[in-house]
Amino acid sequence: MSGLFAAAFLRKIGWEVDVYERSGVELVGRGAGITTHPELLDALVASGAGLDDLGVTVDKRIAIDRKGRVIAEKHLPQILTSWDRLQRLLRNTIDESRYHLGHDFECVDQDGSGVTVRFANGTTARADILIGGDGVRSSVRAQVAPEVQPIYAGYYIWRGAPNESALSQKALDSIFPYFTFFLPERQQIIGYPIAGFDNDLRPGKRRYNFIWYRVGDAATLKSMCVDQNGHQHEYSVPPPLIRKDLIDALRDEAKTELPPALFDVLQAIERPFFTPIYDFASPHMTYGRVALIGDAASTARPHMGFGVAKAGDDARALADALRDHDDIDAALAHYDTTRRDVSERIVLHGRKLGTHLGVNLRTDDDRRMWKQLQDYRAMMDWIAVPNFLEQR
Ligand SMILES: Cc1cc2nc3c(=O)[nH]c(=O)nc-3n(C[C@H](O)[C@H](O)[C@H](O)COP(=O)(O)OP(=O)(O)OC[C@H]3O[C@@H](n4cnc5c(N)ncnc54)[C@H](O)[C@@H]3O)c2cc1C
Repeated sequence: MSGLFAAAFLRKIGWEVDVYERSGVELVGRGAGITTHPELLDALVASGAGLDDLGVTVDKRIAIDRKGRVIAEKHLPQILTSWDRLQRLLRNTIDESRYHLGHDFECVDQDGSGVTVRFANGTTARADILIGGDGVRSSVRAQVAPEVQPIYAGYYIWRGAPNESALSQKALDSIFPYFTFFLPERQQIIGYPIAGFDNDLRPGKRRYNFIWYRVGDAATLKSMCVDQNGHQHEYSVPPPLIRKDLIDALRDEAKTELPPALFDVLQAIERPFFTPIYDFASPHMTYGRVALIGDAASTARPHMGFGVAKAGDDARALADALRDHDDIDAALAHYDTTRRDVSERIVLHGRKLGTHLGVNLRTDDDRRMWKQLQDYRAMMDWIAVPNFLEQR
């Protein structure tokens, strides 16, 4: 997302931009849901990607108890979109000849006037600047700032997005139309509707985004990262290789832990998969003629649902700086100082909201926040809400 945003914003100020993607085939997002924010909508419009058929609008949030009874409601209209939809809108802004699949970044050489980038397929590219928008495990960052490493939050999520048509009537009636919270101790289950396959927004054709936060220390995560062939992965396991015994155990726990409608949702997910939660903020956004954006520059825990909005804002700030400075190095320095603080604030806010799960509560502030968030109404007021950067 950040790479596509950067290309779109830079093209608007007259730059020639090429996007290099590691994957050899067009990307698909496994149905991941994305909450939207005013900043994301602004960035989509300003970049030229637009808002066509962006997603499903929900009008309210509900919290339910273990029996499925609604224990709180909050009126909060919000558009819920999907990774696939955003990727398609942004992808349409790029000229085909400027988008290069199958280019795995290998290394960059810098001299005073630009960069030479080499890819694993043997090709090279010369440019004024390199923008590393290659995600939380960025190989660009690994070269320019190898000391910057994502930190495991001490929890992970199980997730999936079953088709609306596969859900029970109980789930369709009681939770599907809403942004739903179920908040047992040290867990969070969140669900909301998103577009269906091929961005189908018609009733009956949509999907339901399901997320179940679970606490697990580094040793637990390591054992979960052994795949069904016995191979140990470092950070997470590709969904088709997740061990069956882990999924069976999850389904067993769900029988006793989840309200009936959410249990039905989990049952409708053929292959739930897990994502460990990491965060970090790089101390710099630029390293010579290399700029970092999006998750490569800083990754927050997903409690605000703000990652793509941040990716868009990073890209826009970089393009604005290049537009407003005659000198490229001065522009990059400006981008570094202006976006670094915002990145840090977003990461810290994610940690604050993460205290709900009761992991590593180190300071009095952490414990105060943890206590405040044990009230499900506070969670509904804070999780993935618009304009959170204005909250104190
Ligand atoms: C559970 C979860 C829920 C989330 N929910 C939300 C939400 O509701 N709203 C929201 O806004 N955000 C959400 N996010 C965050 C959001 O997904 C990310 O912030 C966003 O995808 C970051 O975009 P990016 O382009 O910086 O990185 P990525 O999306 O990771 O993209 C990086 C790209 O770089 C490519 N790449 C990687 N290495 C190389 C290489 N060596 N050479 C070439 N290409 C390479 C990858 O293939 C990929 O296409 C969530 C994240 C998680 C984990």
